[in-house]
Amino acid sequence: MGLDKTRHFAGGKLVIASHNAGKVREIDALLAPYGVEVISAGQLGLAEPIEDGATFLENASLKARAAATASGLPSLADDSGLAVTALGGDPGIYSARWAGPTKDFGIAMQKVEDALAGAADRSAEFVSALALAWPDGLVEQAEGRISGQLVWPGRGTNGFGYDPIFVPTGHQMTFGEMEHDAKEAISHRSVAFKKLVGMCFSGDGG
Ligand code: IMP
Repeated sequence: MGLDKTRHFAGGKLVIASHNAGKVREIDALLAPYGVEVISAGQLGLAEPIEDGATFLENASLKARAAATASGLPSLADDSGLAVTALGGDPGIYSARWAGPTKDFGIAMQKVEDALAGAADRSAEFVSALALAWPDGLVEQAEGRISGQLVWPGRGTNGFGYDPIFVPTGHQMTFGEMEHDAKEAISHRSVAFKKLVGMCFSGDGG
């Protein structure tokens, strides 16, 4: 392999480009061992940019870049969703929007089931994209995926979003039935985080 050209986080303040307090807390806990002082975009009063990227990575990157430019600090953003094979990757980057203005994921899951219309292929994957941007415009990206099968009706009340209808490959329980730690040990988000931490937060690579 060639030289590691990824830019490492040098410690200090990191803006989490999310207005979701739960997400900020989770990321804070994940990065605590690496000397990271987490501040949320909400705390800084940063505006949320329009997410008009065509992919998860584009959306994560535009959010991270906007926060880094506005704050003058390195900024981390994520974008995630459910991609259903038989639906050509939908709801994908529109996963949150399929739940409508009331954010009702019962509606969103029913929409997925209706769109599948009895399709034999019930495979899907959860995708998580992370982007770490610096004020000079450089962005490092990492993506995590987990494949599985969709079940109907949904099962379990743990987790959030589409968790009740997703059974990860090699498991019997849906994400909605799994305990938090069991899900997070294998989730798309943890895969993406492990990659980004390996690239930018740990080791002495520069
Ligand atoms: P965002 O990344 O905050 O824009 O959220 C994307 C949407 O994808 C969420 O509102 C959920 O509907 C869905 N999603 C992302 N990750 C998960 C997950 O781990 N379980 C269930 N749904 C998820």
